[in-house]
Amino acid sequence: MSNRYAKSYEIFEKAKQIIPGGVTKARVPHVPGRYPVYADKAEGAYVWDVDGNKYIDWMCGYGCILLGHRYKPVDNAAKAQIDKTFMTFLASPVQNTLAEMLIADIPSAEMVRFCKSGTDATSGAVRIARIYTGRDKIVRWGYHGWADWAVSNFHGFDVGVPQVVRDLTLTFEYNNIDSLQKVFDANKGQIACLIMMPFETELPKPGFLEKAKEICHKNGAVFIMDEVRSSYRMALGGAQEYYKVTPDVTALSKSMANGYSIGGIVGKKEIMEVITKGLFSATFFVSTLEMAAAIATINIIRNEPVIKHIWDIGEKLQKGLKGAVEGKGVNVKVVGAPPMPFVQFNLEDKEQNEKFKMEFYAEVAANGVYFHPNHHWFVSYSHTQEHVNRTVEVCEKALKKAISICC
Ligand code: PLP
Repeated sequence: MSNRYAKSYEIFEKAKQIIPGGVTKARVPHVPGRYPVYADKAEGAYVWDVDGNKYIDWMCGYGCILLGHRYKPVDNAAKAQIDKTFMTFLASPVQNTLAEMLIADIPSAEMVRFCKSGTDATSGAVRIARIYTGRDKIVRWGYHGWADWAVSNFHGFDVGVPQVVRDLTLTFEYNNIDSLQKVFDANKGQIACLIMMPFETELPKPGFLEKAKEICHKNGAVFIMDEVRSSYRMALGGAQEYYKVTPDVTALSKSMANGYSIGGIVGKKEIMEVITKGLFSATFFVSTLEMAAAIATINIIRNEPVIKHIWDIGEKLQKGLKGAVEGKGVNVKVVGAPPMPFVQFNLEDKEQNEKFKMEFYAEVAANGVYFHPNHHWFVSYSHTQEHVNRTVEVCEKALKKAISICC
């Protein structure tokens, strides 16, 4: 274990005695012993671990930090709401202000319901589709959270999920419209919805999202876009605005409140209204702390060049990384949309690939850049050209080191 992370691993060892796994699944030490585990503080584009090491943070709380850590205007709006109260049993008119903003900005939004997380939003959207169509089966593609239906047939994570739920949850191959058509053909009149991320590290082929929507509608199913990750990053109106494909229903969360815990479902009035027949309610759904933060965040996105900036920085980062890691004799590729970039390691030998990746990321972290080895990264409004330059420099060095150790 590297001394650089001594405090992190001391805490981790203690945590494992009182918290199963020590941390939540996605936060396990990415390179055991050679990667930070616990954060102490964050500001702007930086995060500091408990050992006092400073990093350029490209994980941004897994996408929920859009403007930068501890962004004053957002925190001040949240504090002002605390001073008034943010949690009563009554709902608050603050929800109307925020709902009107989503309706104005997001192409598919005619009506809105709020919740607290991405899993809330995607699960609520699926519930709506089942009520609307009276059907049980669903088709999903991508990561949608931790709910039973969402982890069904998802990379072996469906332990603990009843077989009946797995049987109702179908999936298909991204960017392969025939594979989606086959699923619908084999389940005629039974599918309530297709819920899918618009993209992950692979971007949609021209016409793919349009055709997916068309197949849904031909089969009487609801087309749900899971924009939990892509909303407020691809465009003010999300990936649906960017790709000009308007879904029936959309799940939102993450960056809409710059780190405060909120989610939302938006969609066609006729479909959204069926939600009142079922239950989509929770104690904390009415809390206005996060709504106030979302209003402040969206006002900044509307009035400042936030989206332009994250695209610009993302493009520069991707360009710099391509020069630093591609064509160096190992199969490494820069992928993803510029506001959510990623570097893929595709060495033929799986074991060597894993070792190579670990050496690369250990070196990157040792030089003050924080990434996730397996999930794409996020650009924020606080990242600058200077952060890009340093990151590219560190990645170039890390690649050389990984090559010298593994190849
Ligand atoms: N949908 C997508 C596309 C996500 O990336 C995530 C979380 O990473 C979720 C849904 C689930 O959101 P949460 O973790 O807030 O429940």
